[in-house]
Amino acid sequence: MDRVLKSYTLHNFLSIPQISSLSEEMIRDIEIVGRVLPFKTNNYVTDELIDWTNLETDPIFTLNFPRRGMLDKKHYNAIERLLQENADEEIIKQKVQQIRLSLNPNPAGQEHNVPYLGEIKLKGIQHKYPETVLFFPSQGQTCHAYCTFCFRWPQFSGMNELKFAMKEADLLFKYLRLHKEVTDILFTGGDPMIMNAAALETYIKPLLEPEFKHIHSIRIGTKSLAYWPYRYLTDKDSDDIIRLFELIIRSGRNLSIQAHFNHPKELSTDAVKKAISRIRSTGAQIRTQSPLLRHINDKPELWSEMWRKQVDLGCIPYYMFIARDTGSKHYFELPLDRCWQIFRRAYRQVSGLCRTVRGPSMSDHAGKIQILGVQEIRGEKIFVLRFIQGRNHKWVDIPFFAQYDPKATWFNQLKPAFGEERFFYEEQRSKLEITKPFLFE
Ligand code: SF4
Repeated sequence: MDRVLKSYTLHNFLSIPQISSLSEEMIRDIEIVGRVLPFKTNNYVTDELIDWTNLETDPIFTLNFPRRGMLDKKHYNAIERLLQENADEEIIKQKVQQIRLSLNPNPAGQEHNVPYLGEIKLKGIQHKYPETVLFFPSQGQTCHAYCTFCFRWPQFSGMNELKFAMKEADLLFKYLRLHKEVTDILFTGGDPMIMNAAALETYIKPLLEPEFKHIHSIRIGTKSLAYWPYRYLTDKDSDDIIRLFELIIRSGRNLSIQAHFNHPKELSTDAVKKAISRIRSTGAQIRTQSPLLRHINDKPELWSEMWRKQVDLGCIPYYMFIARDTGSKHYFELPLDRCWQIFRRAYRQVSGLCRTVRGPSMSDHAGKIQILGVQEIRGEKIFVLRFIQGRNHKWVDIPFFAQYDPKATWFNQLKPAFGEERFFYEEQRSKLEITKPFLFE
């Protein structure tokens, strides 16, 4: 029988059939924290992924449902007080907005990646690395469910001034005609697979024409396989989606589905296995990625299991990220040293086919920085780092060193090792032109 998507948000979550498994305290926490952090789940997540007998520690529940610890105590108390006082909705909204703005809504200086076409600022494009353009179609700026750790939460929190989105496909095409160095386009969100097939086609089909022969790869960043695999099975336009994927492959382009999986449980249902198989039958590749998250996947065994399952299903493990410094990061973050330990312990447990994965990696303003390890050199304990991607391609793959800091959870907390005043790339970075981030030698 076809599955029909049913969404649950702050307004109707009490109608979830399993809701009686939640304590009163948990319900209150959802009502308070869910005012600040976006909350949405659906009937696939609630029926097939969450273990309702083990809610205190269930990783999928934590992935989807707001918990008390996700908000700073003072923020939690402020919202709780307003709700207890039956404050005016407008006053609550203002407080919520104030709290959100204090949570670093757009990490890694993403606004610096937004390019111009003449005088027009292309709010739905990010162009940070020469070969890859990120496109945020405006109809794709929501998801089948929301992750509590989300690093793109302004996209669907009503924070329109901070949102990246663009409807005009024409502007995208004009931009790509001028930028022949671009070989890859990544559709991202939110989740582009929330769009219907017809909307997706308007963006993708023109890219298959000969004038865009410099576009070799179309990538789609999506969590739909984990949150709504029926998108590829029984939704009314599932077959159209599959046909569109086939068309991309027939045009000679690569199609890479950048699939977000945070926990092995998300790979365990019949629906996700069938959906993966159906996508792969088109010739598309599925690459997998996830941040490393306390309370959800902070054990090496979970990662090795996840990578093995992915390879068994024909997917390619791609990235382990470090949780970005936004939203409820304090709840999910781990010290960088711990992140590296988890990565290497997982990595050494798997065969070479899983070792396509790269990490742990931080998406910083300057580029994607990987922690290669912790070492002691000339009596100084250090982190060894490298750029997997850099605003300047010349930075890529050069090892560099930071003082060891057992508490650091993000790159901006690190200082250069060996008494250096700055990291090797910093002088150049300060000269970057904002609108032409990589066009200098
Ligand atoms: S799927 Fe991605 S964009 Fe959507 S809520 Fe999760 S992390 Fe955020």
